[in-house]
Amino acid sequence: MKQPENGTLCIHAGWNPGNGDPRALPVWQTTTWKYSSSDEMGKLFDLEKSGYFYTRLQNPTCDSVAAKICALEGGAAAMLTSSGQSANFFAIFNLASCGDHVVSAASLYGGTSNLFTVTMKRMGIEFTLVDQDAPEEEIAKAFRPNTKAVFGESISNPGLCVLDFDKFARLAHSHGVPLIVDNTFATPINCKPFEFGADIVTHSTTKYMDGHAVQVGGAIVDSGNFDWEAYPGKFPGLTTPDESYHGLVYTKKFGKNAFIVKAVAQLMRDIGACPAPQNAFLLNLGLESLHVRMPKHCENAQKVAEYLASRPETAWIRYPGLPGDKYHSLAARYMPHGTCGVIAFGLKGGRDAAIRFMDSLKFVTIATHVADARTCILHPASHTHRQLSDEQLKEAGIPVDLIRLSIGIEDAEDIIQDLQQAMEKAFSK
Ligand SMILES: *Cc1c(COP(=O)(O)O)cnc(C)c1O
Repeated sequence: MKQPENGTLCIHAGWNPGNGDPRALPVWQTTTWKYSSSDEMGKLFDLEKSGYFYTRLQNPTCDSVAAKICALEGGAAAMLTSSGQSANFFAIFNLASCGDHVVSAASLYGGTSNLFTVTMKRMGIEFTLVDQDAPEEEIAKAFRPNTKAVFGESISNPGLCVLDFDKFARLAHSHGVPLIVDNTFATPINCKPFEFGADIVTHSTTKYMDGHAVQVGGAIVDSGNFDWEAYPGKFPGLTTPDESYHGLVYTKKFGKNAFIVKAVAQLMRDIGACPAPQNAFLLNLGLESLHVRMPKHCENAQKVAEYLASRPETAWIRYPGLPGDKYHSLAARYMPHGTCGVIAFGLKGGRDAAIRFMDSLKFVTIATHVADARTCILHPASHTHRQLSDEQLKEAGIPVDLIRLSIGIEDAEDIIQDLQQAMEKAFSK
């Protein structure tokens, strides 16, 4: 039999009930599991046996949902985290320690940019942010002997830059490090980074995967393809004994699952950014319709982008689905069925026009969110990225007048009508 397609995976992957089991994924709303002997419990703590004992480490509801995301990405192992922030933090911190270095595309989600250049810098991990469109030889100069990973977003938020996977995978692998891709905006419905050489994928499941703006969450998926042992001394956390587990070596004991087992056993154990089982249950409901919602988000966004592009008030517009867009050809190569529902544009009249326009909208609401069923709008320079200076905004590829419009799954004509009346109000004076 052929491998199941996205829709079948969205509905069925991760939860395979046996005879007499609940058909829908249940919520294991419990912190703890009962064992009848102290010896059994001890073996779980030593990672000698696998089993549930405390929800901070593992919970069957969360594991089922992680397995569904793993199947959608075509990975070897996956875990959920409490947020996209903790997913990106864990993915990097599982490889890099104080004194290490990471190369990252500069066009990033604001929270990620802050995590990398402020908080993780305080931990002694240095990031070099590179222009992802620079020639390969130019980006290669950013690598150092202590570089441990390369990071980029498949479609950056809110810059909407599409990652050149071939170039980034070549750069990472020729320097002996994995490529980590945040695939939040494209989702595995529109792009499967492992097919293009990424080694690890992260998600803010808060966005399209949840899709209804009801819970914050994250996920990390490992392809199992990166050979940690091929570079002696480079990834000691994976390839040398972990004294906190009696000298166990992750790559020896867990093979293709080594990266995820280590992230759970060390980082989740010590830092504790674990998802709530109830939230994983809600995430699963979102995932069950992801394959139906993504094409609708893309279809609506295409119509709205074409409408905005035709307006005289529009100063500029970025949507990879528009034939004239800078990233149209990369999008066509890596995400031929569509990109995402997010559009970035600027109005003539800059920042002030943006504010007047946004304040005149009716059902399109100002919200610090993207990628859910409801169309929403945000001005990054005033909201999500307000901690960045104008210079930093420019480096991150975010013009001061950029309006981020996240197209929902309402009817496109109604969305356009709302934009139209707001445009008329904003420009009537
Ligand atoms: C939102 C977002 C994050 C952060 O995720 P949270 O779930 O809000 O913590 C990371 N990366 C991208 C691309 C995002 O859009």
